[in-house]
Amino acid sequence: MTDTLQTLVQAFDRMAATYELMARRLGGQIEQLEAERTALRAHLADLSQQQITLLRSNQDLARLTADLSGQVTSLTHRAEEIRRQDQLKSELLATVSHELRTPLTSIKGALSVLLAEDPPSPEVRSEFLGIAHQNVERVMRLIGNFLNLARIEAGEIGVVPRPLDLVEVLRGVLARMRGPAAERRVSLELEAPAGPLPLTGDPEMLESVFSNLLDNAVKFSPEGALVTVRVEATPQAVTVHVRDRGPGIPPEEAPRVFERFFRGTPATNRRVPGTGLGLHISKVIVEAHGGRIGVESRIGEGSTFTVTLPRGGPAPAP
Ligand code: ADP
Repeated sequence: MTDTLQTLVQAFDRMAATYELMARRLGGQIEQLEAERTALRAHLADLSQQQITLLRSNQDLARLTADLSGQVTSLTHRAEEIRRQDQLKSELLATVSHELRTPLTSIKGALSVLLAEDPPSPEVRSEFLGIAHQNVERVMRLIGNFLNLARIEAGEIGVVPRPLDLVEVLRGVLARMRGPAAERRVSLELEAPAGPLPLTGDPEMLESVFSNLLDNAVKFSPEGALVTVRVEATPQAVTVHVRDRGPGIPPEEAPRVFERFFRGTPATNRRVPGTGLGLHISKVIVEAHGGRIGVESRIGEGSTFTVTLPRGGPAPAP
């Protein structure tokens, strides 16, 4: 019995020792698992931090991409604009050459006749000197417009206001237009107040505005028609209406006639010479005087261009 008990006790002791060993091993494994869990947590935190950083970089990249595509769009627009300007410049060069060649050919022809006739009869002399003179005027008007355009493009229109008599300016312009008008049997009429019309402005620039308007009125008039220049004055402003009985301007083209290089169907259909610059330059000059320019036109009835100028000249720069 005692032996049996002893054997049992020994067996229990061995079991206890085995359990203790197992418990110790398990404890070690649990500690290891805990350490691994802590390491995993740290790793997870690290990963989510990395995810946040990645998300931010992603947002930064998206912003950068949007920014870059904005820059690409604006560069594409700029390149298109440069190409358009380049094409306009080439067209201008072609127009300038063509527009100068026509009056120069007439001058050359008139001078050849005068040189060939020795001495020319008074009639021939006066007729061909007249033709040469008119065409010199035309060349000067064209060059004046090109120079003004160059100044406008350079941002220095350079209006030099001084006291002037607008009626005198208009009479000068009409006198110079009489030749080209007579060639097309167009009559020019001036309706202005009797006395002088004092105004502050740049006489050469205003001359160029009214030359452009009269040049158009004459060249678009049918043979034998009348062009009227009517002047109205108030103590504050002067308004000049230049009216022709030409083909009129199509309503859809009227808002565009003051654009640079715009040439409408009345000009292109009838092959009327021109550069599409006169009205643009006139508008810039009138506005530099603090004035306004506009047009009213009816197809088949004619056009009236109206210029209103403040009598005190351009407002001083603020
Ligand atoms: P250009 O006469 O050299 O073509 P402008 O700038 O003076 O250039 O005029 C621009 C356009 O406006 C003309 O091509 C023409 O289509 C239109 N226009 C101007 N004046 C008249 C007018 N008096 N009658 C009809 N159309 C006109």
